[in-house]
Amino acid sequence: MNALLRPPSELERWREAGAIAARARALGLRLTVPGAKRRDVAEAIESFVREQGAEPAFPANLSRNDEAAHYTPSADDDAVFEVGDLVKVDVGAHLDGAIADTADTVEVGGTHRHENLVRAAREGLREGIARVRPGVRVDEISRAVASAIRARGLRPIEDLTGHSIERYLLHAGKSIPNVPGMTAATLEEGEVIAIEPFATNGVGRIANGPFGNIARFRRDPGLGDPALARLFGRFRTLPFAMRWADAPDERAALRRARRGLQTYPVFLERGGGLVAQAEHTVLVGAARAEVLSAVPGNGGP
Ligand code: MN
Ligand code: MN
Repeated sequence: MNALLRPPSELERWREAGAIAARARALGLRLTVPGAKRRDVAEAIESFVREQGAEPAFPANLSRNDEAAHYTPSADDDAVFEVGDLVKVDVGAHLDGAIADTADTVEVGGTHRHENLVRAAREGLREGIARVRPGVRVDEISRAVASAIRARGLRPIEDLTGHSIERYLLHAGKSIPNVPGMTAATLEEGEVIAIEPFATNGVGRIANGPFGNIARFRRDPGLGDPALARLFGRFRTLPFAMRWADAPDERAALRRARRGLQTYPVFLERGGGLVAQAEHTVLVGAARAEVLSAVPGNGGP
């Protein structure tokens, strides 16, 4: 028996985490309207995930325009969404370490100026998912993603990739690139992967921007610093928002622990292009993908 095949009880956790993340994504898309505060939207998404009995697997990412990924509002971010903003709502939920990671893009105010970008990312995702089966070369998925985006005259972002997911590990070692020629890996039945095409009218590469208010413990800091031990107990090795450390002793502990933390810069499109993203977490089933982050009853992606 394949070691990756999970017992039904564990599979149910991955499915439930997927359903919660899907509803959180839909909520985030609905709330991203002109004049809404970015911080309020992020907190509403994260509160929803907790109310559903899960935990955010990472902070709600609300990257705008040429920000491709990894922006979450800080505690004092009072900026609001403006008409025409192209916003990637990227959310994660986990149940006991079973993680779902999903995203979609909304044009604030429904201006439809960037419809081509939004559709390119979604079509790339759909075409990628359609290739998923045990034994498939990941390169076949990457080729399908890139072709769908290029068919709309746009570029896939080649240095951002999907990824395998394992318990408590959001990026578990296998990359799912958005362009072909990058990997010799194949998929195995029972694996969980996130496919996440990014489409841009820029150059198709990213550059590091400023700190995106997201960090992650590289390892268990031990019990020497009580505030730090408390934070590690909450977040383990998953990414967290700096604003989640709300007690003064926790904020101070994080400043002291900076070297043991991985910090995430915002990823900016290198050419200043606009970026759209679509992402689903899928289980590699016996014959095809099972989309874990589809809204239940909505007929899939
Ligand atoms: Mn992802
Ligand atoms: Mn994501």
